Amino acid sequence: MLNKKTVDDLKNLKGRRVLVRCDFNVPLQDGVITDDTRITAALPTINKLISEGAKVILCSHLGKVKDGPNEKESLAPVAKRLSEKLGKEVVFVSDYNVTGEAATKAVEEMKEGDVVLLQNTRFRGKEETKNGEEFSKELADLADDYVCDAFGSSHRAHASVVGVTKYITEKGGTNAVGYLMEKEIAFLGNAVEDPVRPFVAILGGSKVSTKISVINNLLDKVDTLIIGGGMAYTFFKAQGKEIGTSLVEDDYLDYANEMLKKAEEKGVRLLLPVDTVVAKEFSNDAPSRVVEGSMEPDEMGLDIGPKSCELFAQAVADAKTVVWNGPMGVFEFPNFAHGTAAIAEALAKIDATTIIGGGDSAAAVNNLGYGDKMTHISTGGGASLEFLEGKELPGVAAADERD
Ligand code: AMP
Repeated sequence: MLNKKTVDDLKNLKGRRVLVRCDFNVPLQDGVITDDTRITAALPTINKLISEGAKVILCSHLGKVKDGPNEKESLAPVAKRLSEKLGKEVVFVSDYNVTGEAATKAVEEMKEGDVVLLQNTRFRGKEETKNGEEFSKELADLADDYVCDAFGSSHRAHASVVGVTKYITEKGGTNAVGYLMEKEIAFLGNAVEDPVRPFVAILGGSKVSTKISVINNLLDKVDTLIIGGGMAYTFFKAQGKEIGTSLVEDDYLDYANEMLKKAEEKGVRLLLPVDTVVAKEFSNDAPSRVVEGSMEPDEMGLDIGPKSCELFAQAVADAKTVVWNGPMGVFEFPNFAHGTAAIAEALAKIDATTIIGGGDSAAAVNNLGYGDKMTHISTGGGASLEFLEGKELPGVAAADERD
């Protein structure tokens, strides 16, 4: 159970200024939002605060903002879409400074139940990403209380996620988590800490190195661990198999062997692909074939083969809890997306708690139309991974403890 204050612990909200850190980091194409899941996910907290008569001040980052503030990464399209979804005006402070005169004035003009959205917090560069004191304080100066509802950013100790809480505390305000945070933590936390068994985890994606701690942590919890995607070839090589020009991380061969050993010692069933779709080029149109044994030296694995799809589908058939993070192949190429689609289909069919750990697997599930068949699709790829690693998320840690 999460022992942190939540929006429900904020009392007497009438006229109180509440700063809410959302994750409005939505995909944009030519200024148009192509997936507004993250905006929809933020609505319960925002609506609750509006209905209690709070003055709701929203902030978020958008994109990486590598070359400084720019219109392409402005939150203006988010303000518009959010306003449509809330059915009320969202006052957008377009000032690249995020805080400062324009923001202060907009907040001063707010009435109970009004909503203001500040500009992209990453427009403040390192002040945001290095948890800068000044920017943190400026954000806190705008509000009385703070709510972190940005699950997708909660693994980052940034000013708008962590730094701001110190100054809210100094002025006697409350730091709480929002409904989205509560929901994400409940699903991911229960799955990992108290799963209904059999508990199966499926990991894919490109690199072992980014999922080292996840594999290690999950081996202590799961009944079955399935490893597919580019990660699998490091395990194959560690087992002495020929993997041609497939993706591999040679520095992690010993680690892969350790994990294979750990799985055996713990009695965890660790499943690797039994066949692979290989090609000679990294391209959707490259001629391919299915290989069960060794690949040729000039071939690379780009997807799991049909027998692996069947094996993995069988492995989840009687599962009661499944967590999935990472595609089974280069799913951006339709010809090598079959393995990823097969997993999504298998999960859609079973009677189990199915949790999709954000990022690519969430996109795959949604694109294939299985979104509503899953129990929970996380809005945070990186954050859900850190959760699966067993780490405490800085955005959660910074919230006030419940009395
Ligand atoms: P990650 O960011 O580590 O979750 O990895 C996601 C990426 O892994 C996707 O862009 C996939 O295209 C890539 N990927 C999955 N399988 C393979 C593979 N067999 N070879 C190369 N890349 C892969």
